[in-house]
Order: sequence, then structure tokens, then C-alpha cells
Amino acid sequence: MMSPLRTDTFDLGGLRLTSGEGRRLDLHVAVEPFELAGETYPVEPETVPVRLDISRTTGEGYALRLRFEAALAGPCMRCLGPAAPGFSVDAREVSQPGAAGATRAHGRARPRDESDELTSPYLEDGVLDLRAWARDALALSVPANLLCREECAGLCPVCGVNLNQAGPEHRHEREPDPRWAALSKLRFE
Ligand SMILES: [Zn+2]
Ligand SMILES: [Zn+2]
Repeated sequence: MMSPLRTDTFDLGGLRLTSGEGRRLDLHVAVEPFELAGETYPVEPETVPVRLDISRTTGEGYALRLRFEAALAGPCMRCLGPAAPGFSVDAREVSQPGAAGATRAHGRARPRDESDELTSPYLEDGVLDLRAWARDALALSVPANLLCREECAGLCPVCGVNLNQAGPEHRHEREPDPRWAALSKLRFE
């Protein structure tokens, strides 16, 4: 099977959209692995299918939306078993050269200079850095703890056994309390 063609950057200008025009594209992006808590978590699938919605606003402006689903594969941070939690990403960017700050709240765009333009860190001269955007957007969806499942039971603090496999019955007998021992002795005499 041929692997799908990867898109690292995409030339929006090449679409020749006019103001108000839009285009939806289904592309594939290779997202760099994540280094978390000293472990490497490759992104699955290797080439992530993404949906890119492009709207030409006024002038040289664009409103962009990026959606995809991907998983990070690696050890569960609680039980150390294999984990591949999946994430749904829905990110937006707005680039509006020459715009006032009015629409700034809609994206993470920031003003570049005193003219208060809306710019996207992923868009330069009409070329979208899709690979960098997808990586950053996924990073924002990744929680501090990557778990095999939300209710992961973790490891037994006494013997270190994986409690997901050992089950809820797993426990250790505590040292018998001498007072109870004395009581039970009385009872059976
Ligand atoms: Zn786990
Ligand atoms: Zn135990």
C-alpha cells in the first residue's frame, strides 16, 4: 500500500480564492513525536489525515480551521502499560493583514506591529506551515497525564503489581492488630 502524500506546507495563494470564497481540503500531515516525562510518544497514525477549511476574508486575509484525530502511543504514566490515548483537534487561525484588533479574539493571532495587524505564526506570504500548526494544535490537546484509560487503576503501592490486571480484589493483609487478636482468642476459647 502506498503511503499518502504528506503535506508539510501549503501555498494558500495558489488556490487563487477571491474574498468570501472558501475551500475544504483533506490532506495528510506527519506530526513529530512528543517527548513527555522522559519517554517518546510517536503520533499515530504516522501520517495523520487532516481536514483544512480555508476561507478568504477581505484583502490578503484568511480564516483557517484545522481538524484531525490522532493518538499518542507510549507507556501509561500511571501503570506503565501500553497506552494510545486519542485526541480530537479543532484549531483555528486568522490572518488579516491591516486589520484592527476587533477580530483578534477569534484566533491566537497576535499583532505584529503598530498597525495592529492580525497575523498567524503559521502563515507567511500566503504559505501555511501545516506541519508546525498540526503539532502545536495537538500539543494543546495533550493532558499532563497520558493514561491507558481514564480510570486506570495504576500500580499497587505495596508490591507494584498492575492493578488493572490484578483486579479490585488485590490487597495485602495488614499486620493483625494485637487487640483484635486477643479478642478473637477470647471468643474461641
Ligand atoms: Zn494505565
Ligand atoms: Zn500489591
